[in-house]
Amino acid sequence: MKQSMTLIPTLREVPADAEVKSHQLLLRAGFIRQNTSGIYSFLPLGKKVLKKVEDIVREEMENADAVELLMPAMQAAELWQESGRWYSYGPELMRLKDRHNRDFALGATHEEVITTIVRDEVKSYKKLPLTLYQIQNKFRDEKRPRFGLLRGREFLMKDAYSFHASHESLDDVYQKMYTAYSNIFTRLGLNFRAVIADSGAMGGKDTHEFMVLSEIGEDTIAYSSESSFAANIEMAPVVANYERKNEENKELEKVETPNQKTIEEVSSFLQVESADCIKTIGFKVDEKFVAVLVRGDHEINDVKLKNLYQASIVELATPEEVKEQFGCSIGSLGPIGIPTSIEVIADSAVEYIVNGVSGANEEGYHYTNVNPVRDFTVTQYTDLRFIQEGDLSPDGQGVIQFAKGIEVGHIFKLGTRYSEAMGATYLDENGRTQHMIMGCYGIGVSRVMAAVVEQFHDESGIVWPNSVTPYDVHVIPVNVKNEAQANLAEELYSDLKKAGLEVLLDDRQERPGVKFADADLIGLPVRVTVGKKAEEKIVEVKWRKTGEMEELSVDQLIQTIRQSVVK
Ligand code: ATP
Ligand code: MG
Repeated sequence: MKQSMTLIPTLREVPADAEVKSHQLLLRAGFIRQNTSGIYSFLPLGKKVLKKVEDIVREEMENADAVELLMPAMQAAELWQESGRWYSYGPELMRLKDRHNRDFALGATHEEVITTIVRDEVKSYKKLPLTLYQIQNKFRDEKRPRFGLLRGREFLMKDAYSFHASHESLDDVYQKMYTAYSNIFTRLGLNFRAVIADSGAMGGKDTHEFMVLSEIGEDTIAYSSESSFAANIEMAPVVANYERKNEENKELEKVETPNQKTIEEVSSFLQVESADCIKTIGFKVDEKFVAVLVRGDHEINDVKLKNLYQASIVELATPEEVKEQFGCSIGSLGPIGIPTSIEVIADSAVEYIVNGVSGANEEGYHYTNVNPVRDFTVTQYTDLRFIQEGDLSPDGQGVIQFAKGIEVGHIFKLGTRYSEAMGATYLDENGRTQHMIMGCYGIGVSRVMAAVVEQFHDESGIVWPNSVTPYDVHVIPVNVKNEAQANLAEELYSDLKKAGLEVLLDDRQERPGVKFADADLIGLPVRVTVGKKAEEKIVEVKWRKTGEMEELSVDQLIQTIRQSVVK
């Protein structure tokens, strides 16, 4: 493509409201433009990158026997009412009315549409399993659209749905999708982890999020220093390899601790380690009050608490509720003498405390020499805390490290959540009616584009990996008015294209400095500068990634470039 013929509106200045690198660079290099908050146009370069990401996704989906279709973005509200999500999805679902005052939703995801299609068209186990996918714009009225393509209100997603007659079949396809996703993100050159995630309210079991490691990520990942173990910090199980201090149990004492409330205050006042303190927190689990104990240097993980009780809502008890239920203030709570009506549970580490410190359920006092089992009982000791850096990895290999991640993909076992709500059944081998078992699998295609830029850029601009670069080669005649330069540039443009490469020719009448700065900003892997030595058929090649430059004769050029841009 000749640059004079396309639209690449580069900007020198960093746009004021663009906080993260991918947003800044995609705007500055002329890949995207904002329409309104969270809604973007993909200009020609942006569209090319999207298409390349899509092509990789398509190839890997087809390898996993998933078949492409296309469903409507605008959907009748009745479908969403049938699944119940019309009422539960909240304001993120974009809703609108047609001229007859009928309700519609813009697809935030397509479980409803796909389930009705398969429900109506598939009747027998013989047609299962079936995996269908599409690549299509999704609409979500995000509370905080931000970071450009990373959190948009209209964005491109690949969403796949699988239908099964057995859980084994779902396990099998889930595994295939896991592999396909790993292949996709590997081909994109991304540094990512597949992390164990929380299945949350959707009622599924297994679920993995694919996270691109990045400081601007919204999620924290706990991963092993040695193995491939990775989990969302909320989900990472903690191995209970605690040791008991080699110390005799001393006699329980009640001591005065005026105005000492937090673990820090109490441990410094009593000159003990925070790991020897027992933190007691009052929770409201659905409608029931529970006292949860953890070591002073640990934090309670409310997702684990929620999962333990299979509760829908877990929240901290308010100061008023604590007063009413426990008879003291939040800062005085402790495990000794809690009203019997309240269940007490503890994180496993608490059991190993010897001669510890705890609240006394009385203002201004603490207990010292507290020994679990001897001094209080709990319903159970179990894993209730957040994993910490340096903890043993749950698979026993290496220690835990933290990183921030951008979620680019999500695979999920749905079970029969939608098939039951929407009556998607099939006849099994014995002629009995059964609900289909489902899985769903999403990739944020436009978010991936931004995630690639987050991982591949330097101070001069984007550094596209070969797999998704909009063009392979940027040919730049230094002076288009110089005939030898203009001719050689045209010749190379056509020869490189014949050799199967995608070429961008900067045929604009601009100063060389402007062209070079734009080339660095746009970030194609190879720049070929046609300058003074054009008559000798010698050009200068610059590799964007390393910044290395070399002079090459035109005969060597094609071969050298072809070898370097292997995808
Ligand atoms: P998030 O927690 O980031 O909001 P999600 O859990 O809502 O994501 P899914 O419903 O699993 O996301 O959607 C599948 C994929 O679509 C995500 O893994 C992500 O890559 C992408 N995605 C979700 N929301 C957005 C958005 N607002 N903008 C761009 N991509 C998105
Ligand atoms: Mg979301």
